[in-house]
Amino acid sequence: MGSIKGLERFDSPGKGRGLRVTKAFKVGELLFSCPAYSSVLAVEERGSFCEFCFNRKQGLARCGKCKKASYCNAKCQKADWPMHKLECSAMIAFGEKWCPSEICRLVARILVKKKSQKEISSSEKMMQVGEMQSHLEDMDNKRREISESDIAQLHQFYSKHLDFPDHQELLSLFSQVSCNGFTIEDEELSHLGTAVYPDVALINHSCLPNTIITFNGTSAEIRAVKDIKPGDEVFISYIDLLYPTDDRNNRLRESYYFTCQCQECQSRSQDKVKLKVRKRSDPIEEEVVNNMERYARKAIKEFRASKHYRNILFELLEICEQSLEKMGSVFEDSNVYMLHMMYQAMGVCLYMQDIDEAIKYGEKLIKPYSQLYSPLSLNLSSIYLKLGRLYMTMDSHSAGVKMLKKAMAIMEVAHGKDHLYMEELRKEIAQK
Ligand SMILES: [Zn+2]
Ligand SMILES: [Zn+2]
Ligand SMILES: [Zn+2]
Repeated sequence: MGSIKGLERFDSPGKGRGLRVTKAFKVGELLFSCPAYSSVLAVEERGSFCEFCFNRKQGLARCGKCKKASYCNAKCQKADWPMHKLECSAMIAFGEKWCPSEICRLVARILVKKKSQKEISSSEKMMQVGEMQSHLEDMDNKRREISESDIAQLHQFYSKHLDFPDHQELLSLFSQVSCNGFTIEDEELSHLGTAVYPDVALINHSCLPNTIITFNGTSAEIRAVKDIKPGDEVFISYIDLLYPTDDRNNRLRESYYFTCQCQECQSRSQDKVKLKVRKRSDPIEEEVVNNMERYARKAIKEFRASKHYRNILFELLEICEQSLEKMGSVFEDSNVYMLHMMYQAMGVCLYMQDIDEAIKYGEKLIKPYSQLYSPLSLNLSSIYLKLGRLYMTMDSHSAGVKMLKKAMAIMEVAHGKDHLYMEELRKEIAQK
């Protein structure tokens, strides 16, 4: 096994494997960069990004056979062929019926990689892909069903090019990938694809993380967002940290099968401000508040379930508006459930190209976001960025530049000054 300077794998008390530093790291410093062991571009992003290196640019060249995958150049196309060939002819053969899930597509690639790989890859300096936890024994029925349907898809769409291991091994692989896979997101936190980074999977979760993960092409980069002392454990957050302690831990248990013991989960110091209730002369009863919180969690779930249907945008917006009105009788505008729905509403407005409405929702998010998220949060930089870009398209130059600069201040630390995003941002700020 290799190593990375300044870092070591260790047994973290109560957490199993973990990663810690052997030297000090300052805020903004890169701990390490990890190439993807395997990655897959989301179907929706085809044509906007190179299928191989995830480079975003115009005028990518399409694969001559399937006319679906696109590439920077012949070099990227050639390099991607061992993976793309799994899908190229199958997409032609199945036509519209070709619909494997993203995790299924990724697992197909991992199977090929495992077979062809002779040496330990540069993504496995501290932990190998086979060592990633599968949590197979913790899987509930719902999760098991999803995995079974993924396996069925794998057989349906990939049988021509793959030799499958036995069922149990496949189940375990799907489970490993769903617990350890990373969503690759762009600077606005839009989903670009999924990838596996074994070395990064070594890092445990905390709701008060000292590092942050960003992506450069298909590589993951881990940078310090707090000063880290020699001997400190490295933590990232696996989840959106906006929500109160119970919600965060429900999410962690559902997706990763553990309960967080971090300082914030113990003190719950932010919960009250996150669940802020309206101040009225006659205080709102506790039961009313509890009921509304239950309603909010249900509304969020329902919205998530119907979000994928883009043909019902008006209905989606209505769901947001109705729930905001209902919750608004009990919750402050800065309550995280209100913020959640405003954020969703902003997204729907963007889809409908209603820029004015999107800006209206975005403006409401800025202040509470800057209070509830940590100052170097990507959720915060992405909202500055989205809003800044919206102002720029509306020719509100000074408002736009102000927002873009705020985004840039965070991204310089989180993504590093040399990231391509910085160059793009500088150009946007300079434009008239
Ligand atoms: Zn490329
Ligand atoms: Zn093709
Ligand atoms: Zn926690």
